Amino acid sequence: MNVLHPESILVPADGTQTPCLLGSRCDNCASVVFPQMPVCPACLANGAMQMVEIGRTARLFSHTIARFAPKGFKAPFFQIFVDLPEGPRIFSLVGAECPIEPGVLEDGMDMRLVLEPLADTPESKDLLTYKYVPAASPEKSGKARHA
Ligand SMILES: [Zn+2]
Repeated sequence: MNVLHPESILVPADGTQTPCLLGSRCDNCASVVFPQMPVCPACLANGAMQMVEIGRTARLFSHTIARFAPKGFKAPFFQIFVDLPEGPRIFSLVGAECPIEPGVLEDGMDMRLVLEPLADTPESKDLLTYKYVPAASPEKSGKARHA
């Protein structure tokens, strides 16, 4: 299994870690960006970016169901934007455990990161990537909030 963006994803080597995204944090202004960048897009500081682990959890910002699939995908599938607690808002797909139905996702709900094949198709089944799924079980989604 290959990783789609190995520089952007921490794949646990054993059971002691959970997967996460790898972003950059600026020592100068504290901005966090994803994917990693060598120059801070906020203050333009060069050489101040440090790799940070981000995105184990996220909050759903918006979602839509794609009815047509590019080669390597199966329609329908969710396309979402999530806000990471560290700052960045990123595009993502949704993990296979989440049924693709209207009402399953609710903007503002808590999400968690999973690693899985890009899509269950011959072109994409051997490419591992990050996706998000609802953090809570479907019955409690949108209600469970952590302090
Ligand atoms: Zn900066």
